[in-house]
Amino acid sequence: MAAVTLWLDRARWREHLDTVARSAPGLVPVAKGNGYGFGLPRLAAETAALGLGTMAVGTPAEVAAVRPDFDGDVVVLQPYDPDDELAVRMGRDPGVISTVSRLGDLARLAATGGEPRPRVLVEVITSMRRHGLRPERLDVVGEHREAVRFEGWTIHLPLLDEGRYAEAERLSRAALAAAPGPLWLSHLPPDETVGLARQLGGAGGSPVPVRLRMGTGLWLGHPGSRHTTASVLDVHSIRRGERAGYRQRRAPADGWIVVVAGGTAHGIGLEAPTPAASWRQRAISMATGSLEAAGLALSPYTIAGKKRWFVEPPHMQSSLVFLPASVSPPPIGSEVPVELRLTTATVDRLIEATPSAQ
Ligand SMILES: *Cc1c(COP(=O)(O)O)cnc(C)c1O
Repeated sequence: MAAVTLWLDRARWREHLDTVARSAPGLVPVAKGNGYGFGLPRLAAETAALGLGTMAVGTPAEVAAVRPDFDGDVVVLQPYDPDDELAVRMGRDPGVISTVSRLGDLARLAATGGEPRPRVLVEVITSMRRHGLRPERLDVVGEHREAVRFEGWTIHLPLLDEGRYAEAERLSRAALAAAPGPLWLSHLPPDETVGLARQLGGAGGSPVPVRLRMGTGLWLGHPGSRHTTASVLDVHSIRRGERAGYRQRRAPADGWIVVVAGGTAHGIGLEAPTPAASWRQRAISMATGSLEAAGLALSPYTIAGKKRWFVEPPHMQSSLVFLPASVSPPPIGSEVPVELRLTTATVDRLIEATPSAQ
């Protein structure tokens, strides 16, 4: 089959998910976009299997993608937009929690009125400067207590660890001073989140309620539980100087053109290829006759133990890779390892398998 395949060792993956779920206080799995390579329905099913009652999606449209597999509460992370019809409809769904990040939007959501009241998280702006209310405006929540069901505060921290805890503490204190409610945090390590909850609870008091949101660290945090491969679609011999590909580039040496599954449709080859960083480096490459100097880019495909060069930038669903004559080409129909960034990749299929000793 012509495919890019994600092989998942489900037992090891599940063990990792369980470990994270046990250590992260009030874990809220995040499933958005391409579903971290696994797809949104799969992540919804895993969240249900973990026995968790809440998960988060990115957009209002993504709620429908997780619903068939998950019947708990779904948080929409993208700020509530009162001009988006779907967001408004989702805002009134009793199983959906909207994130409100602008003062005016909170008033408009509150004005949609009626029972059950819309459930909201109110976002506090952080040093990310992405979305949220400024700490001095958080008391506005009190004005809408009758019209909305306030589910807590959301604080989305940057990935940097420098100063992160101090910022989480400062913003949490400001939020709790404005209104009590659970703190929904991202990108704070589980142990620091537990520490923060205790610290904010005060000596002798009980920890304040916290919910830790996690996507990458949860779904992709155990690289050993998966690998990705691409099928070999075709192999052709080529002589140095002969042309190949859409762009009719010349082969840098005698060898093979290996046609492999995977292209821009899978998210392969979308990152800027790594050309020589400077003209000086380029001159050095030229002098040493490297393929980089010939304008080739290193591909994410490994054949016979080495990453191989693209013959040309990948096309939609397949890629041309050059293999020197000294290497015997892989058989057509076999699988070769391909390195994928799963937050941007789309695979054709996911196969659950325990990897054989490799
Ligand atoms: C995407 C997102 C997350 C998850 O981020 P990861 O880095 O994948 O863990 C958490 N919180 C918010 C608000 C997000 O938008």
